[in-house]
Amino acid sequence: MDFFRKMIVASNWKMNTNIPEGQKLLEEIMAGFPAELPCQVIVAPPFTHLQMVIRNIGDKKLGVAAQNCHYETSGAFTGEVSAGMIKSLGAGYVIVGHSERRHLFHETSEIIKKKVDTVLAAGLKPIFCCGEPLDIRESETHNAYVRMQLEQSIFHLDEDAFKKIIIAYEPVWAIGTGMTATPEQAQEMHSHIRDQIAIHYNKIVSEETHILYGGSIKPDNAKDIFTQPDVDGGLVGGASLNAKGFLEIINAAC
Ligand code: PEP
Repeated sequence: MDFFRKMIVASNWKMNTNIPEGQKLLEEIMAGFPAELPCQVIVAPPFTHLQMVIRNIGDKKLGVAAQNCHYETSGAFTGEVSAGMIKSLGAGYVIVGHSERRHLFHETSEIIKKKVDTVLAAGLKPIFCCGEPLDIRESETHNAYVRMQLEQSIFHLDEDAFKKIIIAYEPVWAIGTGMTATPEQAQEMHSHIRDQIAIHYNKIVSEETHILYGGSIKPDNAKDIFTQPDVDGGLVGGASLNAKGFLEIINAAC
């Protein structure tokens, strides 16, 4: 049986741009792509920009993601934002388990698991990030490391819930460093992740799951990575802050 997975290009603005800058970036991105695109484009601006972005996208088929949320639904958690709040704004996705959250904010697999659950319970789709640090890659234990991340934070889901997940494989050594996994390294890990999904669920679920690559994607390396058979698009950080470059990356995927 042949499976068709629509390509997805998601941008992670991280903690960049003020509101006017973000609005300009959004307008430039939207000006560059047609109303009907064969792939899904998602923008993940800071929390403060979500309402502005959602109001400005109009009828463009642009998905909107938050970059994080708390795992509780409400309560005394000063400074935090719940998945329900994000849902009520009209966003569709939340990035969960980004390596910057894991490493700079000490989010454990257990916390990430709770975030995945709360995002799904709110009716949003998690963009679940996984990926190994450099020492793990160098010790050639990266497959086992990523397998453990999947087991600890998403493989508890039942099949219906799991089907709502988008996975982003982001080797930590490639994020914001300018170092990119080779297309072969990306394909090898994506294939490994797909195999694990087939073992835990089944072949159909594994073939239907979107697995994005993230880590220093740029206009000049996007095509080689996106044409790997198990790569279904990308999660783009730094290069998505430049509309022209991001549009070139979108074109490479679509
Ligand atoms: C990211 O933040 O998810 C990312 C992949 O960043 P960059 O593209 O800058 O490496």
